Formats: sequence, C-alpha cells, structure tokens
Amino acid sequence: MCSLKYQKSGIETYHCTYCTYTTSYKGNLKTHMVTHVNNRPFVCNVCHKSFNHKVALKTHFRLHSGERPYKCDICGRAFIQRGALNYHEKDSPKS
Ligand SMILES: [Zn+2]
Ligand SMILES: [Zn+2]
Ligand SMILES: [Zn+2]
Repeated sequence: MCSLKYQKSGIETYHCTYCTYTTSYKGNLKTHMVTHVNNRPFVCNVCHKSFNHKVALKTHFRLHSGERPYKCDICGRAFIQRGALNYHEKDSPKS
C-alpha cells in the first residue's frame, strides 16, 4: 500500500501544504506553519519569511538575488522597489 508520508532512507519527511518547506521533524513543521497564519502563504525559500502577496515576496526575493530593476535616470542608483526610487527621485533636486 502507498503511504502518505515520504520515506527516504528511513527518515520521515514532513511537507508544508502551503509552500515548498520540508523538514524531518514534525515539531519544525508545526513552528513553520505559524508563518502561514494571518494569510501569508507566500514564503521565501531562502530565509522563510512569509508574505501576504506574491508581489511582496517577489520584491523581497530581490534582496537575495541582488536584482535592482528600478534605476534612477539622474544618478544611476538602482533600487529593488519602485516606491524607493520614487522617494529617491522626489528627494534629489533636478538640475
Ligand atoms: Zn510553508
Ligand atoms: Zn528571503
Ligand atoms: Zn538619483
């Protein structure tokens, strides 16, 4: 018969039903599941921080990937969020 639990070389693996998180300790999964409370199902697979929107996770993930798609035309500084660039542009006087 097939088992619901994954068995890999005798070690049981517990899978999170919301994200790709896996652990061999049931207690760890329980702790991890707390991150999904408050409707934050989008979890960063690098630092396991959770977000309520896919876009928020995508923006956050740029901290790990180093991607900075919003570039200032005036001084060339790059930002991970459009808001940060807007704020920067407002702040710097145009000559
Ligand atoms: Zn999860
Ligand atoms: Zn992260
Ligand atoms: Zn600038």
